[in-house]
Amino acid sequence: MSAPAKPRYRIVIVGGGIVGLFTSYHLAKAGAGPILVLERGFLSSGASGRNGGGVRQQWETRATIRLAREAVQEYRRFGREFGYNPWFRQGGYLFLAETRTEIARLHSVHETVRSEGLPSRELAPEEVREIAPAISPEGIVGGTFLDSDGTLYPFPVLWAVYEKARSLGVEVALGVEALGIVRDRGRVAGVATPSGTIGADVVVNAAGGWSAELSRRAGLPVENTPTRHEILATEPVKPCLDPMVIRLSDGLYVSQTMRGELVGGRSMPHAPGTEGGMSTSPEFLPSMARSLVRLIPRAASLGVLRAWSGYYDDTPDGLPVIGEDPRLPGFVHANGFGGHGFMLAPASTRRVAKAALGEAIDLDPGAFGPARFLDPDRRAVPEHLQPG
Ligand SMILES: Cc1cc2nc3c(=O)[nH]c(=O)nc-3n(C[C@H](O)[C@H](O)[C@H](O)COP(=O)(O)OP(=O)(O)OC[C@H]3O[C@@H](n4cnc5c(N)ncnc54)[C@H](O)[C@@H]3O)c2cc1C
Repeated sequence: MSAPAKPRYRIVIVGGGIVGLFTSYHLAKAGAGPILVLERGFLSSGASGRNGGGVRQQWETRATIRLAREAVQEYRRFGREFGYNPWFRQGGYLFLAETRTEIARLHSVHETVRSEGLPSRELAPEEVREIAPAISPEGIVGGTFLDSDGTLYPFPVLWAVYEKARSLGVEVALGVEALGIVRDRGRVAGVATPSGTIGADVVVNAAGGWSAELSRRAGLPVENTPTRHEILATEPVKPCLDPMVIRLSDGLYVSQTMRGELVGGRSMPHAPGTEGGMSTSPEFLPSMARSLVRLIPRAASLGVLRAWSGYYDDTPDGLPVIGEDPRLPGFVHANGFGGHGFMLAPASTRRVAKAALGEAIDLDPGAFGPARFLDPDRRAVPEHLQPG
């Protein structure tokens, strides 16, 4: 545990995952100190240390495509800016369809992605095989592919942003929980912790799967829901898979790391909530094994090195929540990133930092703002292309 050094900060960020740390970095670069990040666990204890490292620009909504495209550019220059190699490998993302309905869905995504200037391709089954010869052709009726999508290693990214933020003066207190939000005259005045209150003009809720709990502690009901997702890594094998592969029918996603491990997961019917823990369930391994071997037959002989789970922070429309809560001035949301917070972090947290400073941001409040859930007539276009 590292106690905060000061009694008061301009901005306190709750959550030391990639969203909280990247936000602190953008704020520090803007000269907005003093800044404190409160993390009740250890670095990478949340979803940021438990994800598949996928970075893709193939999405249903233009807003997500634009944020993701910006993030791809940022991850390409990450090593130069932060001095750590994130091992961002642009082997592409290959989506697989097994029915005409899935083909139609991918076609619509493809049209939107192309109209945003990204050269996604629609593939016939034989072209799928050219891109990923290790996968079984059985049942595949087509797919889409974008070669500038890719994967990275989350840990060096997290560590690099942590180090850089601290070098710019951000304080990160590990092992310190935000128990509640202190109000004064109708706005945020600080954060309650086990060792007392820390004063703050602004509090950023970057608590990932626990963001709804933190909002509730601030007296603000929200529609975010934590959902548990499981993932595993096999023992390493010779390189056999360049792209990240996603199969729509069962939500399977898998990529191969530079060390040769196959890393992937699939949708499981877990009840919402964070009570399920972060280990693996007895149902996951057999179910994932069946899915993976159906896709990559040679995986049948592979041992599993480790399996674990983490929490998506889901919203009803699949889009993150970014901006100040109109019910509590000074309380800024940076949450609801579902299964794509790592890839969107560099771009979206630049907007979070601006929102925390009271500056205008270039995101449609009807799509990203917290007030959208308070509007009974909301009509945001949902983003539901979730797996991987
Ligand atoms: C299995 C899995 C696979 C995924 N695959 C991908 C992928 O391929 N690509 C991608 O982009 N995304 C992926 N994601 C999603 C991605 O990991 C998350 O969207 C992202 O890491 C969210 O970052 P965060 O900082 O918001 O949350 P987190 O990393 O969860 O950080 C939140 C932190 O807040 C802390 N906290 C919570 N409450 C409090 C409190 N009251 N006081 C103090 N601290 C608190 C927690 O301890 C936690 O460390 C995946 C997620 C999972 C679980």
